[in-house]
Amino acid sequence: MSALNCLSSRCRDVQEGRPRPAPGSRLCGRCGDKLGRDLAELPRLHRDLLYALSAPERSGEKVRATGYPGIPFNDRAARVRGQVVGVLASWAELVVQERGVRPPARDAQALAAFLLRHHDWLGGHEAAGDWADEVAELISACRRVITPQVIRMVPIGACVAPGCPGELNAGAQSTIRCTADPTHVWGPRSWSELRRRLERVSA
Ligand SMILES: [Zn+2]
Ligand SMILES: [Zn+2]
Repeated sequence: MSALNCLSSRCRDVQEGRPRPAPGSRLCGRCGDKLGRDLAELPRLHRDLLYALSAPERSGEKVRATGYPGIPFNDRAARVRGQVVGVLASWAELVVQERGVRPPARDAQALAAFLLRHHDWLGGHEAAGDWADEVAELISACRRVITPQVIRMVPIGACVAPGCPGELNAGAQSTIRCTADPTHVWGPRSWSELRRRLERVSA
């Protein structure tokens, strides 16, 4: 029943003819192990993309304004986040239908954990090659967005601290800093607080 060679199109040993799949699998041991590691890493990358969301893209061209002036929004990070959940959900759906098991929650962490529990079964599936390729593509897509970006400073406006003469700029690590006082700094997690203060200032 098993294919003659490893089904992964990214199999390392393509030149020498792809290696035989591991017993019960359609992937060789190396590709099967890599797939397991990739899958275990995806929830973390998905979370890291949250921070890239507010960073300018590397080209600097595709940044668009969010609801409040000056704070950039990375479209590509948002798209890749959606892609991670979408691809994992569609493979989970296949497992649910073919194995008659209960579906996991539709979030990256739950989906990856669920698919890891069905790792061996998926490795023996006739679509195992596509499965391995799609996970590898998700990993590369995440890394392309997360890779440290060229530092660009994006001006936000006057500092919101009372009496502070500084200007706010968004820069590395999606952090907004004041030019006058180094303690006036907002990371991505405190942006909603900063936004409220900016709105109050401009109102
Ligand atoms: Zn292989
Ligand atoms: Zn300040």
